[in-house]
Amino acid sequence: DPRLQGISKAIRVVPDFPIPGIMFQDITTLLLDHKAFKDTVDIFVDRYRDMGISVVAGIEARGFVFGPSIALAIGAKFVPLRKPNKLPGEVISEAYVLEYGTDRLEMHVGAIEPGERALVIDDLVATGGTLSAAVRLLERMGAEVVECACVVGLPEGQRRLDGKPLYILVEPR
Ligand code: IMP
Repeated sequence: DPRLQGISKAIRVVPDFPIPGIMFQDITTLLLDHKAFKDTVDIFVDRYRDMGISVVAGIEARGFVFGPSIALAIGAKFVPLRKPNKLPGEVISEAYVLEYGTDRLEMHVGAIEPGERALVIDDLVATGGTLSAAVRLLERMGAEVVECACVVGLPEGQRRLDGKPLYILVEPR
């Protein structure tokens, strides 16, 4: 797809952020480039439009940037998966492993019905730990996770996804 090169080039790489040694993939510059931003959303929409998906679940915070546009275009609802203690209603929660320590994702109880078909969206997958926590949250609510999708994927991004399909647009620069 010739659009992928433009998408890749629009992502800024920031060395040593947030800590030394990390080459941070910054999607805020992609959002400044109307063509690259639209191409990104269009590619996801074309892929997911006819898959019977009723819920797009976005991971805080950069999954919130792409998820709602995709949800609106494919006729699905949007459900935010948030960091701990942000959601005001009753939540279910899943822990996941970080390089140092653990974190949690939370989802509102009642946001989805059993049997719904879900897409999980985030900006970037590294180990897959964050996405796998999202998958567990949705499956605990009885949803069927059709696929996880990210703009940027490290080659090892499947590791913690336990066979769940993963769709990525570009590799890190
Ligand atoms: P994982 O759980 O190891 O797959 O890490 C993925 C999570 O870390 C996602 O929520 C990303 O938003 C975040 N992340 C890790 N590295 C980067 C980066 O270089 N750019 C943007 N987000 C990143």
